[in-house]
Amino acid sequence: MGTPHFTRRGAVGSGVAAWTSLLTQSAAAAETAPEDFLKALRAALGADAVLTGDAITQRYLARRQTERPLAVALPKSTAEVSAVLKLCHAAKQPVVPQGGMTGLVDGAVGRPGEIILSTDRMTEIADFDADNRTLTAGAGVRLQALQEYANERGFLMPVDIGSRATATIGGMAATNAGGLQVVRYGMMREAVLGIEVVLADGTVVSSMNRMIKNNAGPDVKQVFIGSEGTLGIVTRAVLRLRPKPAGMATAYVAIDRFENVLKLLRLFEAQLAGALTSFEIMWDDYDAFVRKYCPHLPPPLKAGHKFYLLIEADGGDPASDRARFDKAFAAAKAQNLIAEFAIARDAEERAAYWAIREQAGAQFIELGPFFGYDVSMPISDMERYGLRVKKELSAAFPKSTTLVMGHIGDGNLHLIVAPGGRSPEITRKANEIVYGAVRALGGSVSAEHGVGTLKKEYLAWSRTPEEIALMRTFKRALDPAGILNPGKVL
Ligand SMILES: Cc1cc2nc3c(=O)[nH]c(=O)nc-3n(C[C@H](O)[C@H](O)[C@H](O)COP(=O)(O)OP(=O)(O)OC[C@H]3O[C@@H](n4cnc5c(N)ncnc54)[C@H](O)[C@@H]3O)c2cc1C
Repeated sequence: MGTPHFTRRGAVGSGVAAWTSLLTQSAAAAETAPEDFLKALRAALGADAVLTGDAITQRYLARRQTERPLAVALPKSTAEVSAVLKLCHAAKQPVVPQGGMTGLVDGAVGRPGEIILSTDRMTEIADFDADNRTLTAGAGVRLQALQEYANERGFLMPVDIGSRATATIGGMAATNAGGLQVVRYGMMREAVLGIEVVLADGTVVSSMNRMIKNNAGPDVKQVFIGSEGTLGIVTRAVLRLRPKPAGMATAYVAIDRFENVLKLLRLFEAQLAGALTSFEIMWDDYDAFVRKYCPHLPPPLKAGHKFYLLIEADGGDPASDRARFDKAFAAAKAQNLIAEFAIARDAEERAAYWAIREQAGAQFIELGPFFGYDVSMPISDMERYGLRVKKELSAAFPKSTTLVMGHIGDGNLHLIVAPGGRSPEITRKANEIVYGAVRALGGSVSAEHGVGTLKKEYLAWSRTPEEIALMRTFKRALDPAGILNPGKVL
């Protein structure tokens, strides 16, 4: 199902149908009377760490959710998470790990009868180690707080995503998040050196590795990264920091032929010798939308080009970094790859360029009910993909609008599809068009956010039967009673 980007907690358009189907799916059934279970939970955590009824505020609910889960547990430590899971395991009580609730596939939503385990109180940052460039973060630490902590000490937290103010390290590990600087620094898999998880039966697995190289057997943490809380609950992570860049060079670029976008990417990768941090694309429809609905976000280049790019590189010496950036642009001009470009003169201009990419989402609602999709595919197929999807969407929904943008350097496109109406049939048709074209290209229905419940139906469109069977084997081995985030992913 399409994921509604930029609308925290639930769908605009797709939310009601999604939530209704969510409620009708059966989770693992608890075997202990709720009152007895809650009593035991309060005894383990303290009464103030167990919320029920009206005390469960909107913070812990999906946007349109009216029925509350049984309780929200707020443990402070790994030992307390273990205590909660031991109780859940004994009682066969379904439990949903929850971080900042910024994921848009309903992966952290707790249904009636389930308990939410929120990491809200697990916010310690410890063991900062400048020599080895590592620190340890509690699962509930918010990305922006961690970025600021690292920045104050002269380091960079290399994973950055638009939801930084609210997304947590535990949620980011559980979804293998990666957004704006993946080209240079990778996703959470690259940033997480070590992890601590609590298994469904309460066993604590401490794999708090601090080295870049550790090949003593399979890398246990990778099983949990990207598993969306279905295999274990992340309680802490050792993160790899990078040197803080001395400066950033940022450019806004217009290009009229897609093949030149690919050539430009290769040219910048070669000429900037690994310093390229972002290579973001916006189709002409996105540019037109910004000009029409976002007068506060004036694009720096003329309208009417086919593609707009936001290109950024970092480095350790601003003068020579800038010279190298300029040289790459001179080469691109000489090869006639670029129609127009502007290089940000200061931090204010840089922020204005990024705002076009990051803040226009607040206005998508002007298009009416819309779905957001995030998909990935080989970069060379992207233009073909965009054309096919738009053609099919226009044929199915004559009043529809589709905007395309994304992290092209990572092969990741975002689509905003406003079909001009709202119904379960419209949702299904739009999903089938967008994901059907992904499937035809051997792409992925989820580049970000994971699968949750909203993309479950389409998992087999991106994964082979053998891959899905292996996922089930992991699930059975690690959570035989099926209490961890039941009904999600598989
Ligand atoms: C404006 C906006 C921009 C975004 N940009 C990006 C982007 O660029 N790249 C990207 O990858 N994503 C992006 N996202 C999606 C989202 O922010 C990420 O998926 C993020 O990693 C979710 O973190 P969270 O703490 O909010 O987790 P939640 O939404 O609370 O949970 C997400 C999943 O992780 C599980 N989970 C949470 N905490 C734990 C834990 N401690 N242990 C085990 N499982 C856990 C939940 O059960 C759920 O399945 C964006 C979202 C928004 C709203």
